[in-house]
Amino acid sequence: MSGQDYHAEFDFELRVCQWAERAWPPGGDRENPILVARQLGTKRRRWDTIVFECDPDGLRQRAEFGERALDSDLLDVIPHAPAEWTYYRDALPDPGYPWRYVREAIHRAADRDILDVRKNGGKIEIRRTAVYPDWVERVVAIENKPDLDASAARHLAPQIERDVAMGLADEVWVATAETGERIEPALLENVPVEAGILVVDLAGDAEVAWHPRTLDPSTPGIRILDRPSGGDHDASAARFEYVDRAWKASKRREIAERAYERGWRSYVDSMRPDCRHFELRWEASGPLPFCVAKDRQQTAAECRGSCGEFEPEPPVWRTNDWPIEGGPGGAIKRLLARRRRRQRPGLE
Ligand code: SF4
Repeated sequence: MSGQDYHAEFDFELRVCQWAERAWPPGGDRENPILVARQLGTKRRRWDTIVFECDPDGLRQRAEFGERALDSDLLDVIPHAPAEWTYYRDALPDPGYPWRYVREAIHRAADRDILDVRKNGGKIEIRRTAVYPDWVERVVAIENKPDLDASAARHLAPQIERDVAMGLADEVWVATAETGERIEPALLENVPVEAGILVVDLAGDAEVAWHPRTLDPSTPGIRILDRPSGGDHDASAARFEYVDRAWKASKRREIAERAYERGWRSYVDSMRPDCRHFELRWEASGPLPFCVAKDRQQTAAECRGSCGEFEPEPPVWRTNDWPIEGGPGGAIKRLLARRRRRQRPGLE
């Protein structure tokens, strides 16, 4: 991918996240609260944008566990924690790995005040501090391709086929940028019919060009490991393996937890808002990062301390108009964190 393409994809991805947070679901009324995240998934597959449709009460209850994600080890403990003091091995399902890792997770949970822990006659007993809710109802994966021509669609097709076969998400979409031209039938033919197609414009509005088919994450999925190239003489068979429901359920929960912590504004954590050239500019779709030195939007990949044009904020910025910690860079981070927290009702 060229630098120009990468720049366009990053910009587009943020706009899709802004649109989804404001207007999901496309063409309908929002019934459930949503969370939006980007660049999350499994070891093998990261989705560009993910929308979580949440149970309203569940989302509020989830806030009792704080802003930080529960990792997979904590998720093997917290949802099973009992209402009354119980020896931990009696309370928790066999994890399938050594119990000492479970004990480590129990102590980490106690340090975060999300689990009551005590010793009783040398035995570790646990008790929940709150009920961990099933807070995610639907997971929607969106692949962003601003320049979706027929060849890009052909390229993307195997990936989308894998997503559909796995069925980890309830819906899979491809989002593309509006060009003012009609979506060609040839393009539609190249994207698997199960995937929806969204056309997003620069102002952050979107229209549905093709509706997706709803997948069923509660059934076993198929992981396509290898597929024939499809040529006339290619007689090789596709290789695949089954993925069970339990794996899918736990992956969805892990991804949702990371999304709860990071959302989509965490891009700023890997950029340098403390550079004097870093700005947030209000576009029609919402605030987006902008580099004054480059006179364009910068990508997360180029906005680092090693950037040739990086210049730290002058110390005077931090003492004059910015009496509180961090100067403008710190203020930008706090603003984005506040906006993220607004989507997570119940967080203190
Ligand atoms: S000059 Fe470099 S480090 Fe500074 S805002 Fe621009 S891209 Fe980021």
